[in-house]
Amino acid sequence: MGETEDERTSQAGQLFENFMQATTCKGTLQAFSVLCRQLELNPSDHRGFYSSLKAAVTYWKVKALWGKLDKRASHKEYSKGKACADTRCLIIGGGPCGFRTAIELALLGAKVVLIEKRDTFSRNNVLHLWPYTIQDLRDLGAKKFYGKFCAGSIDHISIRQLQLMLLKIALIVGVEVHVNVEFAKLLEPPEDKGTDGPGWRVEVRPADHLISDYEFDVIIGADGRRNTLDGFKRKEFRGKLAIAITANFVNRNTTAEAKVEEISGVAFIFNQKFFLELKEETGIDLENIVYYKDNTHYFVMTAKKQSLLDKGVIINDYIETERLLASSNVNQEALLSYAREAADFGTNYQLPSLDYAINHYGQPDVAMFDFTCMYASENAALVREKGGHQLLVALVGDSLLEPFWPMGTGCARGFLAAFDTAWMIKGWAQGKGPLDLLSERESLYRLLPQTTAENISKNFEQYTIDPATRYPNLNSTCVRPHQVRHLYINGEQD
Ligand code: FAD
Repeated sequence: MGETEDERTSQAGQLFENFMQATTCKGTLQAFSVLCRQLELNPSDHRGFYSSLKAAVTYWKVKALWGKLDKRASHKEYSKGKACADTRCLIIGGGPCGFRTAIELALLGAKVVLIEKRDTFSRNNVLHLWPYTIQDLRDLGAKKFYGKFCAGSIDHISIRQLQLMLLKIALIVGVEVHVNVEFAKLLEPPEDKGTDGPGWRVEVRPADHLISDYEFDVIIGADGRRNTLDGFKRKEFRGKLAIAITANFVNRNTTAEAKVEEISGVAFIFNQKFFLELKEETGIDLENIVYYKDNTHYFVMTAKKQSLLDKGVIINDYIETERLLASSNVNQEALLSYAREAADFGTNYQLPSLDYAINHYGQPDVAMFDFTCMYASENAALVREKGGHQLLVALVGDSLLEPFWPMGTGCARGFLAAFDTAWMIKGWAQGKGPLDLLSERESLYRLLPQTTAENISKNFEQYTIDPATRYPNLNSTCVRPHQVRHLYINGEQD
């Protein structure tokens, strides 16, 4: 006897729940592949995947998620998923910004392939979310993926949870995700074959991966601060020496731990009394400290060099920060004590046991980073043309504009750039000329470093990929087409 309708609904529901509940990157991909196989869904059918999945998974609990995603997909900018129907995109990097961009492009109807060099999401560190990012993620069903998402006044999430949630949403809307695939370089189309010949492709590691045959017309660098795509000059902002320390402690979720108040960065930056007392009592000299309670107890602080030398964290004083912070010049034990002492003082000694969480390398999760030099790309996008094939190249996230962690701007500005990039790609698909497209993109990019949670539009419900819904007093023509001619690269790669 065949299965009844109810049995099929329940089986599909169970398979989908397994996917929703998966807690790792590998586990999610595996549950997704089982789901697709059992329900006979074709994940490479990017156009029809979401509706086939919706038709196959109909148990009561999932309806709210479909409702949210349908609402999002109904934004007029997506033209019912047909705005970029013939666009093929490749995204390098499965960090929050790579996934967020991928989701937008899939909603526009593009074919989207994302490659990620790792197969684990292991960053405990916690990202601050601006109110609009919280709304944006809620609208994508964040709470269905992670029940604890921004409950009450919480405005942060660990990087790993955010990646996991966005990976799941990306898969649902038809993004093709390949992990353990590392971008090596862009391959030009052969000049002599013209438009009939192969188009733009990439060389990846492992070299024989099927992605090396994929031809695309848009490539997006979302591979973090060490962006690997050629053609983008980096601007350096050199400030005064800024050494940031991040530390994660185990959160056992006890009542005592729950009571301890978080330290929001914005409030603490100006709290002189606190920092003076900290210095007097412990010898630790900080410029700021942030504490978020998440999967871990997460602290990020900017420490003054002299106190790190005095406390034996940095062994020898060198002028060059690279030498100063080289692992051979850092006493790891002293660093562990320094961060623990600061965390203890900052929380008024109320956290019962400050045991370090373990990081990706099996070590206590503490790290020290140099923020003296911050990088930003000079430009956000460019167009290459070779053998009659045009390629739109863009950067998003940390590759575009590096954030200062204690201010926690990475994800918020990163998502704005993801939307702006999606808007540009929509224009590209509609046949807008390259120079008009690039000049508009550069005009928007000029706004990005100045954006704050306060000066962007407060009408979050109205946010779409259209920049006019997000930036008040928008001037999208402040960069003129003649100023971006150098970003149209016709011929050999530089
Ligand atoms: P990322 O999150 O860096 O993601 C880039 C992705 O690209 C990674 O998954 C990487 O594995 C992948 N990748 C890199 N090269 C390749 C390649 N060649 N091929 C394929 N894939 C590739 N911000 C804070 O505000 N506070 C913090 O405490 C904090 N801690 C951080 C700790 C670490 C170790 C790192 C790397 C970043 C941290 N950040 C922190 C920055 C924050 O993670 C980013 O601002 C945010 O995640 C958005 O970045 P993104 O998606 O642009 O890039």
